[in-house]
Amino acid sequence: MEVSRKQNASSPCAACKLLRRRCSRDCVFAPYFPAEEPGKFAGVHKVFGASNVSKMLQELPEEHRGDAVSSMVYEANARMRDPVYGCVGAISYLQQQIDGLRQQLALTQAEMLHLRVRQAASPNYSGSQLSYAFVSHSKPSSFDMEVGAVEHATFRESMWSST
Ligand SMILES: [Zn+2]
Repeated sequence: MEVSRKQNASSPCAACKLLRRRCSRDCVFAPYFPAEEPGKFAGVHKVFGASNVSKMLQELPEEHRGDAVSSMVYEANARMRDPVYGCVGAISYLQQQIDGLRQQLALTQAEMLHLRVRQAASPNYSGSQLSYAFVSHSKPSSFDMEVGAVEHATFRESMWSST
C-alpha cells in the first residue's frame, strides 16, 4: 500500500502525463485516469478534448463522474473505430437486431395461431363455429403492433443507411 501511495505522489495521472502538466493533489482526472491506463485518456482527449472533459467532470457531482468517464471512454473508442457513426452505429445495429427479432416473433406467433386454428378445426368438430371464435379472439391488436414496428424499422433503416 505504501508503495502505491508513493507512486501516486511522484507520478502524474495518465491525463496530466499526456498533457505534460503537474498533477495536483485535487486533479479532476486523477481518480479516473490512472497512470497504468494511458490509452483510456488518450482516446477521450482526442475526441472530446481535455478541457471539455475537465469541464464536464467538474459540472457533475462526484458520484456520477465515474459513470460519465466510462461512457465518454466508450463513446470516444466508438468514434475512433467508426468515424462516421460512432456509438450511434452500435445503437442502430442493435435496433436493427431488435426489429429483426420482432419480425421473427410476429411470424412465429402467426404460425402458432395458424397451427392452433388447424388443430381446433381438424379433429372431431363438425361445426366450424368453434374455430371461428378462436380466430376472432386471437389477439389481432398485438399483431397489428408488430406490423407497425416493422414499418418503423424500414423507416429507421433508411435514416441510418450509409449508402
Ligand atoms: Zn492528474
